[in-house]
Amino acid sequence: MLKYDSFYFQCPHCQAWLEGRNLKAELVNEAILYSDGKVLNDNYITTPQKMIMCPSCGHIFWVENPVEPFITFEKPDADVYSWNTWRFFGISFSDNKGKMALVNHYKTFLKKSHYEPKKEIYLRRFLWWAYNDLHRNHQHVRLKYLLNGFMSFGVWHCNRKMILEGEKLFLKNHKDFTENLKRLLALLEKHPEEQIDLELPEIYRELRQFDKAKELLDQVGSRTHFTNEMLRHSKWKDPRVFMVTG
Ligand SMILES: [Zn+2]
Repeated sequence: MLKYDSFYFQCPHCQAWLEGRNLKAELVNEAILYSDGKVLNDNYITTPQKMIMCPSCGHIFWVENPVEPFITFEKPDADVYSWNTWRFFGISFSDNKGKMALVNHYKTFLKKSHYEPKKEIYLRRFLWWAYNDLHRNHQHVRLKYLLNGFMSFGVWHCNRKMILEGEKLFLKNHKDFTENLKRLLALLEKHPEEQIDLELPEIYRELRQFDKAKELLDQVGSRTHFTNEMLRHSKWKDPRVFMVTG
């Protein structure tokens, strides 16, 4: 059963048709939530991609509200670029090279031009997540994941190698990671309406400001699994992104 509905829209520059995908809301409860706010459903990121680079002409445009009349749900009688050709700029994530390519795309976009705060927040949040993708499932390197029978030795070994390499790349780029996160933090503090739930304590935690993270978490009224886990990781002085539920 397909977990998404297709929609179609045109590049405003060359009029090429692109296929977009909307996850079906009723199936989103199988999602994996990470501490940085990224949500995956069956490996699909649930946050819509707002900045698109046309696979035909390279024109960059924003899709703020994917609603009619800008989009149509009827397949046009023309060639259509499939979702995979433009999603995350056509990058494949099967290795760390692809993950670094995504990081570099966002860095280039941010360098190239000046954006209004909402758009800069969007780009910096996606850059943050792209850096975290380098070591996102770090818990999978543990032997426990092999012994639990979640994956075969071959898959586990290969995956482990990729995550450990990713961790090295993450540490190598840590200065840029920190600079981006500090800028994102400043923007979100100025524009609280753009904040995602628990985003600020998470940013402080990942910036290794564990006391500030704990202080903010202590102010959250009702304790949830998410806040408890974040508190635990802050107490351990662990700044790495982690899986909250999945
Ligand atoms: Zn185009």
